[in-house]
Amino acid sequence: MSRIALLLVALSAANGFQSTSPSSSGSAADLARTVREQGLDASECYRVRDLRFVKDDIKLYLNDGYLIFSKPVLGQRLSAVFTSDVEGGDGEAIVIPPTRSERQSLASFTQSPNLDEHFHAVLMVATEGSVARLLESLGHAESAKKAPEMGAVMAEQWGPAVGNISGPMQMRLVEDLWSTRSSETGMVFFAVSGKTLGNFDILSDARAGHRMIVRQHVEREGRDDFNVWTDFIPRQFSRGSNAASAAQTQEFKLSHYRIDTEIDSDLSVKAVTRVTLRTGRNGVRVFPFEMARAMQVSAVRIDGAPAELMRDDSQRGRITGNGEEFEFLAVAPADLAPESEHEFEFEHQGNVIATRGDGVYFVGARGSWYPHMPGQFATFDLTFRYPKRLTLVAGGDAVEDRVDGDWRITRRNMTVAVAAAGFNLGVYEKVAGTVAGVHYEVYGNRNLEQALRPPVMFSTPDAGAASNGLMRPRGVRPPDTQVPVVIPPDPLARLRAVAGDVAASLEFFSGLFGPPVMKTLTVAPIPGTFGQGFPGLVYLSTFAYIDPLSRPAALRNAREQVFFSDLMVPHEVAHQWWGSIIESRRIEDEWLLEALANYSSLLWLEKKKSAKEMASVLNSYRAELLSKDADGAVYEAAGPIIWGERLPGWPNGGAWRVISYGKGTWILHMLRRRMGDDAFFKLLAELRRRYEFKSVTTADFMALARELRPKGMAPEAIDTFFDNWVYSTGIPALKLRYTVKGVAPAVKLSGTVGQSGAGDDFALDTPVEVQFAKGASQTIWVRTAGDERNFTANLRQIPTRVVIPDEVLKK
Ligand SMILES: [Zn+2]
Repeated sequence: MSRIALLLVALSAANGFQSTSPSSSGSAADLARTVREQGLDASECYRVRDLRFVKDDIKLYLNDGYLIFSKPVLGQRLSAVFTSDVEGGDGEAIVIPPTRSERQSLASFTQSPNLDEHFHAVLMVATEGSVARLLESLGHAESAKKAPEMGAVMAEQWGPAVGNISGPMQMRLVEDLWSTRSSETGMVFFAVSGKTLGNFDILSDARAGHRMIVRQHVEREGRDDFNVWTDFIPRQFSRGSNAASAAQTQEFKLSHYRIDTEIDSDLSVKAVTRVTLRTGRNGVRVFPFEMARAMQVSAVRIDGAPAELMRDDSQRGRITGNGEEFEFLAVAPADLAPESEHEFEFEHQGNVIATRGDGVYFVGARGSWYPHMPGQFATFDLTFRYPKRLTLVAGGDAVEDRVDGDWRITRRNMTVAVAAAGFNLGVYEKVAGTVAGVHYEVYGNRNLEQALRPPVMFSTPDAGAASNGLMRPRGVRPPDTQVPVVIPPDPLARLRAVAGDVAASLEFFSGLFGPPVMKTLTVAPIPGTFGQGFPGLVYLSTFAYIDPLSRPAALRNAREQVFFSDLMVPHEVAHQWWGSIIESRRIEDEWLLEALANYSSLLWLEKKKSAKEMASVLNSYRAELLSKDADGAVYEAAGPIIWGERLPGWPNGGAWRVISYGKGTWILHMLRRRMGDDAFFKLLAELRRRYEFKSVTTADFMALARELRPKGMAPEAIDTFFDNWVYSTGIPALKLRYTVKGVAPAVKLSGTVGQSGAGDDFALDTPVEVQFAKGASQTIWVRTAGDERNFTANLRQIPTRVVIPDEVLKK
């Protein structure tokens, strides 16, 4: 710690801040500076040999070299550097991912399923006690000797590197340094200079469920990015204990939001967000929040008193998160007492609404326009003041709607705790009704957005002049008269059809998954080809509202037409359950909610139209999964569905989209076939019941499927299903041969199922469906694993057909 920083801390303490301990007083900005300038401690440098250090699934062997520690910050050493740059020096890092898919991921970058790398140097930053533990271990190591002469050299050589790495992490380091229990919530970061793999990082973060990531910095299209080699929950935290550890690392809970938003005539947004926050079993001083980059936060108050706001634009210290949001800290002058309730107030403003035509708007930052924390459920009281020519809609029940001069004031209440609140606005037409105890309001744009207007043909000046028969002075250009060559689409053509589907799918899903928790569902258009479902509020592509024949040529194929006319509405309505009542725990679990919403929309299609229609959509997914991208790689082979944001194309398209939606839907369809309709629909209903207002992981879903599997099915059948379809890649080719002998009622069926093309370790329970002239068909499950397996069955009548049904994803 430099003298200046020390002095600043001392001065702010003298300024009368209350604090639980004198060492933790001062501002977050001061502490951040101290962190950046911590420097290495020349007097704590050692020559070490055969030192072993283990942290979760990371093993470090400091075989021969020098180890130096940083100077303490608030009594805690945060960093250490080991260098093997001595005669015969050596260090080695070993990480063995716990699952096959993670070993596969690591191998795709390093050509080896396990990380075993000798290194020149490793720089470590930790807040959970690892540095202290390492220093302590030297006391027991006989071969560690103080090396003060090398200390001065290393401090000078490596000091700037420690600053460069700690700087971008300063917010997190401040958060942990002031946490009363950083040993439970802290992180550890290793920057490794590998001898063959180059520079890479290893991170382990207790706040992210002890998630561990190995990644390498790369430049992509001129921007900083990471190749994530592997990303997993270490063995001791992986099964079952996930939920507990996530709850333990949550230091506070948000319970109720009051947001007052003013939308100016230029559509800029200015808001005051007040949120009720309750601390957990420990005192907390630092509160991280996230918000859309399009918004700026200008002030924070805690219980009415100004609080410190800390923002770091680099955001490079973040382990996860997308580029569209930033993190900032609200810092109390001292710890807020355990189990105490407070009001946090934020002033924020920005531009999240764009114009796409006369009275047609695009709301960006849906769900992130106010300070929030992912994974927190809260109730909302939303008030909007905006130009009176517009209509504004939001999730929840309308409690106020009035005009005040040129302004309109709309207030909506969500009395059920939800994970996010969105809004939408426009010049609307409305259709409303009530179904299954839910009031629904479906809005459509009165005007057509720019992008949907048909191409226009400009008449030639001469034709224009001739047609109106006017002479004009020479040298003056005539007005360009525009003659539309196509009739513009009606933006409200399908408003009633959309409303009908909203009502019918709401009713259908209520029957399957239980009633939705919101008593009002509002649906409103958004320009673009996508939809998005928020609690109580659905954004629906404007393409869904126009006549199929008016859609652009690129969308006029059968598949896109089904998507915009039949699937988009029920998919977004299904998000009232999957994604609103239940949230995903991690980015890797998001596929599950998307797959559930999409499969729900297919269930609705199956009911509304036919099983054949459903099968044709599934077939189009199959074709897409088996097709190749521009580089000739099969989409499905890009990686297991649980890789989430690591799949190429995230978050907009490519293999990520094809796998998350297409394969995700197939996974649920096959699980339904594997478990049978009764057990499968019970699983969906129970998932909603058990995880209501909670976040769910893929492992939770798998455990529930195992629990609710039909009688007579081994739990291992569910494990095999998930291991191969969810945690792995591969679409097998299946071949069936069979013979039938004997006469009724003593018929013997014998056959062989051959499986190929998905690797030798791809295990599959293949259904062999035996159909009869009379009565229900019978399914024989044959376990194959990249090979041929025989089966036999005794039947009471001669079968009419023996087939592997289309309900298996196969080549
Ligand atoms: Zn969706």
